[in-house]
Order: sequence, then structure tokens, then C-alpha cells
Amino acid sequence: MALIPVVYYSYHPALHKQGAPVTVFDDALRQLVRDMIETMYHENGVGLAAPQIGISKQIAVIDVSNERDKPFCIINPVITEKTGLEMMEAGCLSVPGTYDSVSRATWVKVRAQNENGEFFEIEGDGLLGHCLQHEIDHLFGKLYIDYLSPLKKKMRLKQMEKALKAQRFK
Ligand SMILES: [Zn+2]
Repeated sequence: MALIPVVYYSYHPALHKQGAPVTVFDDALRQLVRDMIETMYHENGVGLAAPQIGISKQIAVIDVSNERDKPFCIINPVITEKTGLEMMEAGCLSVPGTYDSVSRATWVKVRAQNENGEFFEIEGDGLLGHCLQHEIDHLFGKLYIDYLSPLKKKMRLKQMEKALKAQRFK
């Protein structure tokens, strides 16, 4: 098991482009998924996408349970159905120290593969629905602050730089 450093907005190209679909489901992939889950817990995140650790592939891990014991991964995910629209507070490990509201579907259904290549479907609203949309966005190079107005986005990035600086001098 290993922790992998998270990369920050504009600090790594993988964050800002579409990830490659996964075609090989081998032990190396399963190890990567385990490491991503460990990293997500270490960073106190409810989700982590491969681009956030500098890997441009369509892999994300999620755990929205209170007990932090129900992790799962979505590989090559596609949103097949969605309904409603609501504003939700968003934060991101790749944009530390800042939060903002973004518009999301209220409910989504997703088709994806697991770490063994088996297809499955997952659906959810609330935090799970939000998290699914947030992580899938990552796999297409989109972060929540990309939805904000240019002015707001600039403000959030400034806040992030401040938070990073404070972290470095801790
Ligand atoms: Zn994120």
C-alpha cells in the first residue's frame, strides 16, 4: 500500500484533459485502486480520481459512508440517466482551502466497470449523486471551479494559493 501525492489545479496537465479508458484489468490496476482508496482516506476525501494523482486514466474511487468502510471504484464510467437540478456545495482535494456552490443533477445513474473489468450500475442522489458527477467530471478534465464565473474562479484560485502557502510553512 502506498500514499500518492495529490496534484493541484493548474499544477499538472492530467487534471485538465480527458483520461484514457482502461483496457487492461490486471494486478497493477487493482494495486493502483487500493492505493487510491488509501490516499482518499488519508486526505479525508469522499472521492479521488486518477487525474488528481497525475494519472490520466478513467479511474475514480468513492466512499460516502460515515464509517469510511464502503469504498468502491468506478472505471470507464458513463452517466446513463439523470434528473433534476440543484445547487450543491463543492470542494476538491485538488483545489484545497476553498469551497463553492455548483449546479448538479439531483439524481444520476452511472454504468461503470469495477477493478476486475465487470460492468455494474450505481445510482444515487445527495452526496453520492454529487460525488459521482464530481469524480466523472475529473475523468474528463473538468473541476468544479471550472463552472464558476471567471471572477469567482480567480478568487477561488487565489484562496487555494494561500492555503498551499500556509501548508508549506506548517
Ligand atoms: Zn475533485
